[in-house]
Amino acid sequence: MTRKLTEGPLVVASHNPDKAAEIAELLAPYEIEVASAAALELAEPEETGDSFVANARIKARAAAVATGLPALGDDSGLVVPSLGGAPGIYSARWAGPGKDFTIAMERVWRELDGALNRRAHFVSALALAWPDSHVETFEGRVHGMLVWPPRGGRGFGYDPMFVPDEGGGLTFGEMEPNAKHPISHRGRALAKLARACLAA
Ligand code: IMP
Repeated sequence: MTRKLTEGPLVVASHNPDKAAEIAELLAPYEIEVASAAALELAEPEETGDSFVANARIKARAAAVATGLPALGDDSGLVVPSLGGAPGIYSARWAGPGKDFTIAMERVWRELDGALNRRAHFVSALALAWPDSHVETFEGRVHGMLVWPPRGGRGFGYDPMFVPDEGGGLTFGEMEPNAKHPISHRGRALAKLARACLAA
């Protein structure tokens, strides 16, 4: 049976400030006390998994063990079928040590090399881990199209080059957070988690 999250605080096990902010916004309606891994100065575990879910579990487990509190891990990325699924679980690494997503987006576009199929999807795997090793996992996806040049200064990562199918032609980088959340991979994964683990 799915375990409910009955009390906080909940540690958001992400050191990516943009992602942690999105997760905090998505959790806001549930009135759960949230603590961030960065604020708690938790070490960042190595992402050695071979899937989004495996890496989300690693992050959530590490934070739950380190704090003795329930922890939420997110592993996410951009999947481009024309690139054999890349950058996928390596989405953050394509930005290099400087975490420069202009470089990462240019690489995606360069490797597409005029491919006719510019379909892509974002995946978010969420893992909710308890200190006793129990873990629940959820996944959300959003499908869309890659565009060039990138557009919009909102969001983060690959947002400026991704036009979701349900976004009225705007890139995620051009959308208000309130427009991105209901259709985003992370918003969808969190909605599943909320239905399963946060509801009474
Ligand atoms: P990780 O899950 O920390 O390994 O990193 C995921 C990477 O995927 C991020 O650094 C972004 O580059 C990308 N990514 C994940 N979610 C989003 C999103 O909502 N918009 C844009 N890029 C994202």
